[in-house]
Amino acid sequence: MKNPRKLNLMEHLTISFLLTRRCNAQCRHCGAWPSKDKSKLKSGSKTASDFTTDEIDTYIDEIEKTPEIEAVGLTGGEVFIVKPLLKKAVDRLREIDTPYTIVTNAFWAKSIDVAKGVLKDFTDCIGIGFSADSFHDEFIPVRNVVNAVKAAESLNIPYLVRATMKVGDTEESMKQWFENAGLPDIKVIQFAPVMYIGEATEKMNPEEFPNKNPAVPCLSLRTPFIMPGGDVFACCGEAANIEGKHPLYLGNLNESSLTTLIKKYDTNPFIIALYTKGPRALWELLNERPAALRDELLLRSPCGTCRLLFEDGERIERLVKLLDVE
Ligand code: SF4
Ligand code: SF4
Repeated sequence: MKNPRKLNLMEHLTISFLLTRRCNAQCRHCGAWPSKDKSKLKSGSKTASDFTTDEIDTYIDEIEKTPEIEAVGLTGGEVFIVKPLLKKAVDRLREIDTPYTIVTNAFWAKSIDVAKGVLKDFTDCIGIGFSADSFHDEFIPVRNVVNAVKAAESLNIPYLVRATMKVGDTEESMKQWFENAGLPDIKVIQFAPVMYIGEATEKMNPEEFPNKNPAVPCLSLRTPFIMPGGDVFACCGEAANIEGKHPLYLGNLNESSLTTLIKKYDTNPFIIALYTKGPRALWELLNERPAALRDELLLRSPCGTCRLLFEDGERIERLVKLLDVE
C-alpha cells in the first residue's frame, strides 16, 4: 500500500477524479459547474458530465504508471448518484493498491442503518468528506450527515465534515448549528468561506461574500483534477471552469501521459508562484485596480482571484513577463 501519510510535498500528489458534474442538490454556492453551463445537465447529457468506464480504466492505468500520485480523490457533483462508476473506480484502485477518498452530500444516509449498509462497501476508504451547512441543508437535511458520521464512526472510516461559511456565520454559530443537529465534535468539521464562483455568481448577493483574501500560498495545488473527457487541471478549485487553455490547464490524458502532465508542477512558473506566494500576490504584481463590482467580488477569494487572473489572455501575457523578471 502506498503510504498516504507522506502527502506533504509537491511531489506527493493526490489526484481527484470528477466522476460526475451532476448532483441531486442545487446548492446556491456550488462551484462544481459554471452557472451558464448548467443547461447541459437539464438536457440530460451524461457524455459531457460523467466519466465513462473506459476512462476510469485508462486513467487509473496512467496513475499506476505515475509514482508521484499517492492517493486518488473521488468527487463530483455527487458521486453516489453514479454509484456503478464509483464502485468501478474503487475496485480498480484496490487492484493497483492505491488509497482513495470520497466526497459526498450523504443524501443516501436516511438512517444510521441505511448509511452503514452503503458505507460497508468502502471501509478501506482513507477519508470520506461529508458536505453540510445551511446551503446543503436546503436540499439534503443535515440529519443525513449526522447519520453518515455515526455510520462511518462505527465502521472505523476516517471522515471530515466540510462546511461553507457566508458573511455572518462564525465558527461559534456553526458549532451551535451542528450541535443542535446532533454533531457536537467541532474537531471533525472543516470550515471554508463561500466564494464568488460557479452558482454563487448568480444565486447569491454581493453582501453575502466575506472579504478576507490575504496573499497566502495556495496549498490546494497538490491536487490535480481529471475531468470527464480527460482534461487535467492543476487543482480542484475554479481552474476547470475557466474557459480556454490557461496556466492551470495541464493538458489532456488522451494526448499526453499523466507523467508528462505532472512534470508541469516543477516547471510551470504560474503553478510555482501560486504554490509559494498565492493568487492574491500575483494580482498585486499586476498593479491593477478591480474595474467593476464583479472583479471586486472575485478578488475576495483565492479561487475567484485565479479566475480573474487567468480568464483574460492579456493579463496572462503581462504575468508571464512579470514572473520572468522575478
Ligand atoms: S451537494 Fe455539492 S456538488 Fe451538489 S449542488 Fe451542493 S455543493 Fe454542488
Ligand atoms: S486558489 Fe487558484 S490555484 Fe488555488 S485551488 Fe483555487 S483556483 Fe486553484
